[in-house]
Amino acid sequence: MYEELQKTLEELHARYLGLTEGKVASYIPELSKADPNWFGIVVVTTDGQVYGVGDRNKYFTIQSISKPFVYGLALEDHGREFVSSKVGVEPSGEAFNAITLDERSKRPHNPMINAGAIALTSIIKGEEASERLNRVLDMFSRYVGTEVYVNMPVFLSERATGHRNRAIAYLMRNFNMIGPDIEATLDLYFQQCAIMMNCTQMAIMAATLANAGVNPLTGVRAIERTYVRDVLSVMYTCGLYDFAGEWACNVGLPAKSGVGGGILAVVPRRMGIGVFSPPLDEHGHSVRGIKVCEELSRRFRLHIFDLLMDA
Ligand code: GLN
Repeated sequence: MYEELQKTLEELHARYLGLTEGKVASYIPELSKADPNWFGIVVVTTDGQVYGVGDRNKYFTIQSISKPFVYGLALEDHGREFVSSKVGVEPSGEAFNAITLDERSKRPHNPMINAGAIALTSIIKGEEASERLNRVLDMFSRYVGTEVYVNMPVFLSERATGHRNRAIAYLMRNFNMIGPDIEATLDLYFQQCAIMMNCTQMAIMAATLANAGVNPLTGVRAIERTYVRDVLSVMYTCGLYDFAGEWACNVGLPAKSGVGGGILAVVPRRMGIGVFSPPLDEHGHSVRGIKVCEELSRRFRLHIFDLLMDA
């Protein structure tokens, strides 16, 4: 299977390089500098093998791919009960940046949309901003196996223009769902979004979730085992926002995308998939990323309900 996997990655890369649909994100000005031709695919298996093709080592900002991992950290910090009093786990069927809260509870619908992610960022433990940022960076380092850094220009660019996220944060403040220090919360949210990774590192993070929370290359635990299930559940139901249902049917894997062009998918107990290609569709997902995941799932029968049928 493994030789076939490498060959398939090369074939899909060659095929979809010619796909020129989609637009590089520009609402965060710094992101518009991305080259639409950048394209990498990496698969990391839970037994530690790495397969890949294309721009594997090109760094980009993870953006919304940070959200499920910060959700995991919030669960470790506070437990399920407290976290679920702040953010629900219902798919919203709306865009990632929708300015909306659950009508009755005033909670954001789920941790994958901006509102939910900002609410969770606001409860990450730490005495001061630097400690909270370091805890987030340390958490990502455990997943990746090396240190990770914030891309300062991207962070500043989003901070200067992210008024929609500011509006979401103030709406939550209005209902007392987050604390008073809105700018500090948004800073940490923009910083987590501006963490840089390459496609290989993204696939290692996915493989770590596939491996029940232990990085298969370093043997280091990145998240308590009990919370892996929660993280994968919201990725499966909400990870692709208003495209989540279609994704669940066609690909059938827990996944998360970011407007930097990254998308990762988790095949429980088997592998992590990372695809990087900046042009995005109307939902904010990498066009080539979606295609590659659809094809990989179909060819290798990776859909979680395929696995069930094969068992
Ligand atoms: N930082 C981005 C934002 O808040 C993340 C969005 C995304 O990747 N979908 O708008």
